[in-house]
Amino acid sequence: MRAGSEAGGSRPRFFATLTLLLALAPGPTRADSASAADELGALLVTGGTVVTMDAGRRVIPDGAVAIVDGRIAAVGRSTELGERFSDATRIDAGGSIVMPGLINAHTHVPMVLFRGIADDLDLMEWLEEHIFPAEAAHVDEEFVRWGTRLACLEMLRGGITTFVDMYYFEDAIAEEAERCGIRAVVGETLIDLPAPDNATWDEAMTYTRRFVERWRDHSRIRPAVAPHAPYTVSGEHLAAAHALAEELDVPLLIHLAEDREEIAEVTARTGMSSVSYLDSLGILDDRVLAAHVVWPTPAEIDRLATREVGVAHCPQSNMKIAAGVAPVPAMLAAGVAVGVGTDGAASNNDLDLWEEIDTAAKLHKVTSGDPTVVDAREALAMATIEGARALDLETEIGSLEAGKRADVIIVRTDGLHQEPHYDPYSLLIYSTKAADVATVIVDGRVVVEEGRLLTLDAAEIIERARLYRDRIAGR
Ligand SMILES: [Zn+2]
Repeated sequence: MRAGSEAGGSRPRFFATLTLLLALAPGPTRADSASAADELGALLVTGGTVVTMDAGRRVIPDGAVAIVDGRIAAVGRSTELGERFSDATRIDAGGSIVMPGLINAHTHVPMVLFRGIADDLDLMEWLEEHIFPAEAAHVDEEFVRWGTRLACLEMLRGGITTFVDMYYFEDAIAEEAERCGIRAVVGETLIDLPAPDNATWDEAMTYTRRFVERWRDHSRIRPAVAPHAPYTVSGEHLAAAHALAEELDVPLLIHLAEDREEIAEVTARTGMSSVSYLDSLGILDDRVLAAHVVWPTPAEIDRLATREVGVAHCPQSNMKIAAGVAPVPAMLAAGVAVGVGTDGAASNNDLDLWEEIDTAAKLHKVTSGDPTVVDAREALAMATIEGARALDLETEIGSLEAGKRADVIIVRTDGLHQEPHYDPYSLLIYSTKAADVATVIVDGRVVVEEGRLLTLDAAEIIERARLYRDRIAGR
């Protein structure tokens, strides 16, 4: 969403209130540092149609994926791998599709607790009369933890194995992500306003340095530096954030060129539109993952490609807020790595990446008048290997290939909305729903089995979410 709405944007009064409230908030609870993932036997997912998303886009009928020590050991025919990995624990994927886990390239997970709080409103009315007051009254570390648990429950059950997040209390988000077994790229939002957990820019930078150092060697949690946007962070601070990301060698997450109002504000202040402005600061490079990028000029699209900037396309959020339609076909043609994100659930209203890729595949056909753009295979690539490339993680995740981390999902194909089917990409993009995901494996560990999340107590989380709803609605 735009204008720092998830964070409070340019509304200092909100942060001032929150900062006071925080003094009363309970202290952080520590995550269990060891997880069940430490003891992993070999797994063999066998009998399904394997959609690899590798460079050749191989699809293997009656295929298998062998997993050893959290990584993919081999991908091939069931008969062949069945012999090679005869001691492995077998997971029968017969009649299903086996594919890489989905990558949600942009979100603000705790905002699930504001799902549906206010819809179909003018952006400013929505922000000022609904979101900001709700955040000021309710967001604290405990809120962030329960929101993250609910979001991870929804994402894992829907086949998302990696998410990219920018919010506050990001240490708590990282701990909850670690605990439930998902993979995450997480950045504490840096903004030129008092934030809920850090009153000043310097405090937030100190927090970020400590946060990155804490998580930098974790196999599933990748810390990042996350300046909010070009209109909420000064040029000097944007450069400082980038220098920190460079020094610590981590990604930089930012909202960029989201709507016309942003472009007008940045242009009035700097004489340049948002992408050119960041480039003039020398901070556009391959460690940057920019969310939205709805309004780049053609020359700026070339610049994004040359600088190897990754883009997180959020079609449903852009549509709901009427931000515009990102020029995705042009970005793809220029070679920009484009992933797909849900954005926060207050502006979507779910964390369902299947809906996003279905939407992405259709939206650009409407605006271009060309039904051949963003075909089903390209749309699936955006949620898998291209999303990984946007994150500079394509050597680790995003496709089923020997040596990569074992983030694998099994998708049922026998739903009434799926029968009959002729082509796996068509089936996955245009017919499949999040509820069709049966099994989810992250880093070689089964976290969803027959649609049930093994690492979180769904009933307890839903009960807590409803309590938050009652409190937020003033009941
Ligand atoms: Zn956002």
